[in-house]
Amino acid sequence: MDYHFPLFSDQSGEQNGEKKGEKKGEPEKKGEKKGEPKYLGSIVVSYKLSAILQDAVPWWFAKDNEISIVDIDDRVVAVRADGGPGLNVFTHSRSLDLPGVSLMLKTNSINNSPKLLSNVLVLTVIVLALGLSWSLWELWRDVLRRQAVETALQAQVAFRKAMEKSLVTGLRVRSMDGHLVYVNPAFCAMVGLTEQELIGQKMPFSFWTQAAYEAFGADLPMAEIPVVHNGFETVYQHAAGHEFPVSIYESPLVDENGLQTGWMGSILDISERKKTELTLRQSEDKLQRSARLATMGELASMMAHELNQPLTAINTYASGILNMMKSGKVESDELIPALDQMQKQAVRAATIIRSVHDFVVKRGPNRTQRQFSEVFNAVLPLIQMQAKTYLISLKFDVETALPDVLIDPISIEQVILNLTRNALHAMHDLPMKQRVLHITASRKGNQVQVEVIDNGAGITEEVAERLFSPFFSTKAEGMGMGLNICRTIIEFHGGQLNYLPNPSGGTIFSFTVPVASHGSVQTELI
Ligand code: ADP
Repeated sequence: MDYHFPLFSDQSGEQNGEKKGEKKGEPEKKGEKKGEPKYLGSIVVSYKLSAILQDAVPWWFAKDNEISIVDIDDRVVAVRADGGPGLNVFTHSRSLDLPGVSLMLKTNSINNSPKLLSNVLVLTVIVLALGLSWSLWELWRDVLRRQAVETALQAQVAFRKAMEKSLVTGLRVRSMDGHLVYVNPAFCAMVGLTEQELIGQKMPFSFWTQAAYEAFGADLPMAEIPVVHNGFETVYQHAAGHEFPVSIYESPLVDENGLQTGWMGSILDISERKKTELTLRQSEDKLQRSARLATMGELASMMAHELNQPLTAINTYASGILNMMKSGKVESDELIPALDQMQKQAVRAATIIRSVHDFVVKRGPNRTQRQFSEVFNAVLPLIQMQAKTYLISLKFDVETALPDVLIDPISIEQVILNLTRNALHAMHDLPMKQRVLHITASRKGNQVQVEVIDNGAGITEEVAERLFSPFFSTKAEGMGMGLNICRTIIEFHGGQLNYLPNPSGGTIFSFTVPVASHGSVQTELI
């Protein structure tokens, strides 16, 4: 861009002014008055505006702004736009102070307005909307979760109710102060009372039998109530009046904080079990009787032989007496010794017959307190009779002061007889001199122990494996029930039946029965 600066001289001839628009080299016109400024010429200034922009504006400014120079008519005369055109958002104008020209320097930023506030608001709204959506989503999930839990809970409650209804075991909870706080339908049915009638009852409960009332009494302190965890048996009374046996398992009821709040009892009506047990006992009894009869078969021939002696003696004495009386020479005093002998022989025969009869006749199990010697003496004639038949000598070591025992005498007699019979059989093939049956009875703590010792063939491993199995016998005529029954009888008495080899050959069978004072049975009632 070029600019002219005209030069004029004043009247004194000094160059003192300039007049725009007057052209350089214009000749002074004729008629010009003296003293008027005289045009001298023009100075021409040339600006290169693009170069000004290039050099004067720093690069870092130019890259973010479009810088332009416009003239007085707003025409762009130079522009620098390194970073691209301005966005007319941030602009600035100022006049460019150049001699002789009126120009404007315009700055137009290429950056857009940050719109911070609106952005923040929008962002906030977005965040809030997202938060709301998330909350709703979580709420929905929570509702679903709750619904699922509720459904599961309902199902579980229904399941528990169904279980409770179908449970045959009676359940009842009593609080720490002895009140009934829960009963299940099975328990109600068992005692014939409704839940309303049972809940709140205080000990003694209405379903206790008279025996329970008498045992505890209404004022029994709680501390004295026996607490049994391993179960016990007692008798309850139905509302209709009949009594029935029950088995009770009692355990502490503990809440979620670990505090005991009462006692939980599960009660089983064991009437059926008792009936089955009775039937079983009866069958066992029958079996025992059969075994006794089988033994008796063997005994019968021995008995015939054994009775022969006293009967022959009686016959002889009777014939002698008869002859003496027929001759008429006899005094009544002379007959007394013969009659006395006759009586003794008759008593001997009667003892043999009674011991066999007692042994065979059926009697139910009846545990009573007995002197052991009494039981032993009852079976002794039978042992002697058998020993005589098998030509076996007997040896007894029975302690004199044995305590009383709690036993069913007939069963224990059978055990002794079975063991001695087996021992005699085991020695059958020995030379006569060696055949000795040794029986001992002694106290061992709270038990009385009986040993039946033979010096027979002993028990082989093969036989030992099946020794107590029912119907196992190595004898041609054997029933194979003897040892099995013996073991049942002894275990029923709370004792043990064992065997071990006799160090001098043969076998030692031993069994124990409880001493009377330690065998009493305790009854507990709740
Ligand atoms: P049974 O006498 O009818 O055979 P048991 O049950 O009494 O039935 O005995 C089973 C078997 O045990 C006998 O057949 C015998 O083989 C064996 N046994 C029992 N006692 C003795 C003993 N003292 N010595 C050797 N064997 C014995």
